[in-house]
Amino acid sequence: MKTASFHKFAKLCKQLEKLSSSISMREKLEDYFKKIPKSSIKYASYFLMGNINPKYKSNDLGIGDKTAVKIVAKAFDKDEKKVKKIFNEKGDMGNVVEKLNKRKRSSLSLKEVHNTLDNIQKTSGKGSQEKKKEKLADLLKNSTSLEAKYIIRTALGVLRLGVGDKTILESFAGAFTKDIKNKNIVENSYAVCTDIGELGESLAKNGLEGAKRFSITLGRPVQAMLAQRVKKASDILEKIEGDKLAAEYKYDGERVQIHKDGKKIQLFSRRLEDITHQYPDLVEYIKKYIKAKKTVIDGEILAYKKGKILSFQKLMHRRRKHDIEKYRKKIPVVVFVFDILYLNGKSMLKKPYPERRKQLAKTIDTNSKKVRLAERKTSKKFDEIKDFFEEAIDEGLEGIIVKSTSKNSIYQPGKRGWLWIKWKKEYAEGMQESFDVVVVGSYHGKGRRKGMFGALLCAVYNNENDKFETFSKVGAGFTDEDFETIGKKLKKIKVKEKPKRLKVNKKMKPDIYYDPKMVIEVIGAEITRSPAHTAAEKKGKGLALRFPRFQNTREDKSARDTTTVKEIKSLKNK
Ligand code: ATP
Repeated sequence: MKTASFHKFAKLCKQLEKLSSSISMREKLEDYFKKIPKSSIKYASYFLMGNINPKYKSNDLGIGDKTAVKIVAKAFDKDEKKVKKIFNEKGDMGNVVEKLNKRKRSSLSLKEVHNTLDNIQKTSGKGSQEKKKEKLADLLKNSTSLEAKYIIRTALGVLRLGVGDKTILESFAGAFTKDIKNKNIVENSYAVCTDIGELGESLAKNGLEGAKRFSITLGRPVQAMLAQRVKKASDILEKIEGDKLAAEYKYDGERVQIHKDGKKIQLFSRRLEDITHQYPDLVEYIKKYIKAKKTVIDGEILAYKKGKILSFQKLMHRRRKHDIEKYRKKIPVVVFVFDILYLNGKSMLKKPYPERRKQLAKTIDTNSKKVRLAERKTSKKFDEIKDFFEEAIDEGLEGIIVKSTSKNSIYQPGKRGWLWIKWKKEYAEGMQESFDVVVVGSYHGKGRRKGMFGALLCAVYNNENDKFETFSKVGAGFTDEDFETIGKKLKKIKVKEKPKRLKVNKKMKPDIYYDPKMVIEVIGAEITRSPAHTAAEKKGKGLALRFPRFQNTREDKSARDTTTVKEIKSLKNK
């Protein structure tokens, strides 16, 4: 079978690095995808995202900078100290190997590079680190100088081509459906088939029809359905459909999509990462208390001790690689389930919410204290829903989610629509609205904050142009502990140049840029137009949050899950 060469792919990467407009990147990709064999599209798609596999599978090779120095020294027969020195000068291992590798030709294919990296990823057990080193060193030796540059960056998880999944999806629409306008259909399909490579291959083989053939399956998470927000309780009535009202408690924990396939249990986060290993206790409860053999269930994990819900921050302490067994006792968890998306071979996505909820109740053991149904109230009277909201607040919860009970109340993966409306304490009390923003830069601290960051430059995601646009400079609200933990995490995502998809005003140029990865929650006094920021920029002025204060970090969210430009606009107009 024909397969695409890795050299052409490396050349594509080099060209993409020079482009900054998403339109030219899309065109370049379209052209490339049209030329390569259909069976290679998936590998190219994963690599472009900086991954080896779909994002819900593990992509971490477990190789850090220190090990990389050893690998590079071995591959090119150089002294480790020398490699380290060049690395310190260049600050990027890709540039180091490009310099050390003198090879002009190779016969590597995309598939071979993929398979080797995948194999390294899967190598585990005794002596695995040595085996990994050897395999990667061999691959670097057998590649050309340009290929080696992108291979090592991919292996270390720092490819950073600045190509977002949105741009790849658009290029699929252009290359395989002949009309870029089909991008919405392709994007909707991506919400269900979150494996970008599989989707690309299907489109290449079947044209637009290839986007329509996906349904939910076990082991491949769908994007989570999200809720709209309203400012006044009475707006809910205007927006919600159905002759009956239904409201559920809004639990503030970690969103989880549970996939149960007989004895195999997988837990996926809202960012679609596999978080199964974080919750061995939950896996046991699911085996015991979810009665269906094969099912996908949506819910919220909460830290829960002695009959009390613990804070979201406490729960996040369990996001760790080590000591999980210890933390399992320290921070016990339960899951509140609120939806069912798949049952014994059949998708439930298109069934209306009342039917799904009924089925959900039948699928779990409702006597269990560990897997519990989300508390709910149905009524025709809005006053009773308001009472239910009060009750939720008295119980210490964030608020409620009102859910449509109409015929059309399907489960919409990846959509923030009016089928679910959140109603929170903050809105009711006229309290400050919170925003989720991604850290893209920092300014050096002065005085007491010398040696730390003084303020963080934060952005929101604009899904119209696939860019991160700055919205706020946050310097208040951090405790000493925050400075330390955030500072440590930021060090790991520091980048030398401005990330390509970031729109920043010259005036706001930070001292350090970061890969847009860390999401934080902030509150602020009001939204204004300012020449300093670039969010939804109009006539040189962007939307900006005045008097922002840091609240906490949101490890459960990815950069694409920040408050959107659209939401900010609608809040400004209220
Ligand atoms: P916020 O930032 O306001 O806490 P969010 O950004 O985490 O919310 P939203 O889409 O705004 O996410 O609100 C929906 C979230 O509420 C879901 O992602 C889910 O994690 C959580 N949730 C808690 N209880 C429920 C429930 N009963 N039904 C649906 N979602 C629920």
